[in-house]
Amino acid sequence: MRLCRFDGNRFGIVRGASVHDVTPVVEGLGKQAYPFPRYDLLVANLETLRPQLEAAAAAAAPVPLDGLRLNAPVANPSKLIGAPVNYLLHLEEAQADRGINFDQQVAQINTIGLFLKATSALTGPGNPVCLRFGDRRNDHEVELAVIIGRRADRVTARDALGHVAGYAIGLDMTVRGTEDRSMRKSVDSYAVLGPWLATADEVGDPGNLDLSLAVNGEVRQSASTSELVLPIPELIEFASRFYTLEPGDVIFSGTPAGVGPVTPGDKMTAWVEKIGEMKVGVEAA
Ligand code: MN
Repeated sequence: MRLCRFDGNRFGIVRGASVHDVTPVVEGLGKQAYPFPRYDLLVANLETLRPQLEAAAAAAAPVPLDGLRLNAPVANPSKLIGAPVNYLLHLEEAQADRGINFDQQVAQINTIGLFLKATSALTGPGNPVCLRFGDRRNDHEVELAVIIGRRADRVTARDALGHVAGYAIGLDMTVRGTEDRSMRKSVDSYAVLGPWLATADEVGDPGNLDLSLAVNGEVRQSASTSELVLPIPELIEFASRFYTLEPGDVIFSGTPAGVGPVTPGDKMTAWVEKIGEMKVGVEAA
């Protein structure tokens, strides 16, 4: 099942090039009182609601995907987690590019651990990435994004995939510079998630997916998640050793070689096998 959020706060099931509006099923989740839960209610209830979502989709007239403004499929994640330098070829690229002064920053993932992106950076493909610091380099990073479905506290790699709701394409946008990653990757709109949440059963093995990114039609990144230094189950084990993963939390699993700059006016096309494709514009903030 492919679940999208569009035109503000409507929800739909995607089938082919059409969307079936299932918003009424989701609206029942809104009856919450302060303090609201610190996780995404829809993702937390996705398994329970699935029969209702499927039934509502079957009854709803198809609307063409083209022309809908897609938002991030997860509205309210408690955490956006990033995996730095999780493909070996990208590590070599980063070391060559930045010189020995930044060795610590580009050390392998299992030494330096994961980072967090601010949830205020989250956006969907219906909105452009708005570049700040136009005098500095702003890079694209296409990644497989993992969406947690069940609370995960110190889970083993063996059990990890049972805690996944689904997957999406992630763009971990980055402004180059001396600040900590958590700052440079947290600029508003620098966490693109979309075009929808593809449920785990639809994707199958997350360790063997091709992914790519093109800028203005020119392919810049092309790889397979089979090349991940820390595969998805190990990433979930690693992260959940430090903090509890909540439903709706998103793990940006790392980017392959080929990262490069984008400038206002560019159009990025990101693709992940078994999930789909999204086009994202770039503008000046
Ligand atoms: Mn990244």
